[in-house]
Amino acid sequence: METLNVWDLHCDALSKIILEPEIRFEDDPRLDVTARRLKSGGVQLQAFAIFIPGAWKGRPFEAVLASIDAFQQRIASRPDVLPIRSRADVDVLLRPGEQRIGAMLTLEGADGLEGNLAYLRIAHALGVRTLGLTWNNANWAADGIREPRGGGLTSAGRRLVAECDRLGMPLDVSHLSVKGFWEVLDTARRPPIASHSNAKALCDHPRNLSNDQIRALIAAGGRIGITFVPYFLRSDGKRASIDDVLRHVEHICSLGGANHVGFGSDFDGIEEWVEGLEHPGGYPALAEALAKRYSAEQTEGFLRKNWLSYYQAHLP
Ligand SMILES: [Zn+2]
Repeated sequence: METLNVWDLHCDALSKIILEPEIRFEDDPRLDVTARRLKSGGVQLQAFAIFIPGAWKGRPFEAVLASIDAFQQRIASRPDVLPIRSRADVDVLLRPGEQRIGAMLTLEGADGLEGNLAYLRIAHALGVRTLGLTWNNANWAADGIREPRGGGLTSAGRRLVAECDRLGMPLDVSHLSVKGFWEVLDTARRPPIASHSNAKALCDHPRNLSNDQIRALIAAGGRIGITFVPYFLRSDGKRASIDDVLRHVEHICSLGGANHVGFGSDFDGIEEWVEGLEHPGGYPALAEALAKRYSAEQTEGFLRKNWLSYYQAHLP
């Protein structure tokens, strides 16, 4: 079978790796995302989110630096991995015969930046290429989707958005409060992405996006990564399947998003998995299911090209 060249814009492998110095990225059974599975699944680019585990909560920026160090030492320095920081790196990744896996750093939650824009600039200089403003709770920049008061951006959060615009750092609205979502859409100059969120019309979970939010992201030129969190795919408690993933893809297409939808698995951030899609090695099965329903060109759009065109436009 021809290589799929999937782009997956969200996983949490790094937050396990920094907690366990013994974890081997090659093939450790504690990881969903391993080098071996990325290869067998035909993944061309994997985004690795920096997420601060509880054990590091008192030292947020130190945790960001430790995560970047772990990424460099244990993932990016491998001969079979190509770190992606720029359009030029993407060009290398796309060269015929290139076998390496692209690896890009993202930050899930501005908590780690401690309200300090210098820390944002340092993270950017060290290769972080997308910033999610919050996780589920509130932080100094904005309220997350689970924060009961439902606030939007703080004034410091607005300054953060402006500095991201100036640096050329794409923003990620997954996990952000509804009010924060609309404020980012209004204020950010660059179209945001939702790296790992599904459609609320099909599965009524607060982490999912309403049709209005999806339409607004599409209109802005943003992207949506369908995620493989079973309870973001279906709300009836039944085991989620690849067909459920396809239902969400189809829904976003029905709202005009055929060129705006991709995948952001959330592997290593989940403790239940979609049947047949338990790790990156399941991508060929997903690709086969997509190819039965969509043209080869559309299937390639979902698996790679929609993310590729976004990052070709927005990487430095
Ligand atoms: Zn997440």
